[in-house]
Amino acid sequence: IDRERVSTWTGPGQTADGRPVDVLANVQDGAGARAAASTAAAGIGLFRTELCFLGRETEPTVDEQAAIYAEVLEAFAGKKVIIRTLDAGSDKPLKFANHQEEANPALGVRGVRIAWQDMGILDRQLDAIASAAASTNSSPWVMAPMIATPAEAKRFADAVRARDLVPGVMVEIPAAALLADQILEHVEFLSIGTNDLAQYTMAADRMSSELADLADPWQPAVLALVARTAQAGQAAGKRVGVCGEAAADPLLACVLAGLGVSSLSCAAASVAGVGAKVGSVTMAQCEAAAAAVLATGDPVAARKAAADAIS
Ligand code: PEP
Ligand code: MG
Repeated sequence: IDRERVSTWTGPGQTADGRPVDVLANVQDGAGARAAASTAAAGIGLFRTELCFLGRETEPTVDEQAAIYAEVLEAFAGKKVIIRTLDAGSDKPLKFANHQEEANPALGVRGVRIAWQDMGILDRQLDAIASAAASTNSSPWVMAPMIATPAEAKRFADAVRARDLVPGVMVEIPAAALLADQILEHVEFLSIGTNDLAQYTMAADRMSSELADLADPWQPAVLALVARTAQAGQAAGKRVGVCGEAAADPLLACVLAGLGVSSLSCAAASVAGVGAKVGSVTMAQCEAAAAAVLATGDPVAARKAAADAIS
């Protein structure tokens, strides 16, 4: 894909034959959201709220949180914004949320699991999001990280709906991908986090450079779980996006579209490259690439199969 095409990409996100695939931005604060708003991103697919509070000793008040969330909502006024509730723990510990020492933090009390120990943290964050939504006259979607079971999805969705917000969950644990159909009975949308989904599917630490070949979103086993999740979304008539690093790789983005995901969310700097690449191929090519990739057994063969199917 040539530079010219990337630098002039202005959206909308769609394949060459006009099949919509939203291209969204991942952000972590108001400044990042304003920068992302200058790209052709159609919205925010992942607002990592925990990154606003790294290094803080105490929990930010509801008003303090609401002011930050409102800044992000204002940057994308009238557009889709998906806010993720605190994903504290493991690679992103928060002093006010992660209290115990754990032998295996990646398998410990992290993400939404903190809420099951102390519902107050989640309740106050949802109050802050509801307040920011009201003050900016917007209707953000709200999703939880690290959901493992349908019951967790229901409990989270109930808390979100109680504030007139739209609930969804992340699929980043294999168990959630395997039961995506049941989870979708409780929520309005899913967002696949391929960074953690690869880590947990392959039992390979995402932070380990030695294991990078295993914790690779091109692993066909990871993509088979993406396919299963996307199919569950299509059967339920609900949207399934991808917000992990996989969505920033233009060739893999085409494969993900072919697997049936409806949106791709990546760092602002990657938005134009992904949008231009998806816009240069037909949905039939994406589907052929997806089928070819699923028939391989490793990331090297998967990349080659996708490239062959698309060019
Ligand atoms: C992911 O796991 O893919 C994801 C998007 O969340 P994070 O990278 O913040 O864990
Ligand atoms: Mg994650």
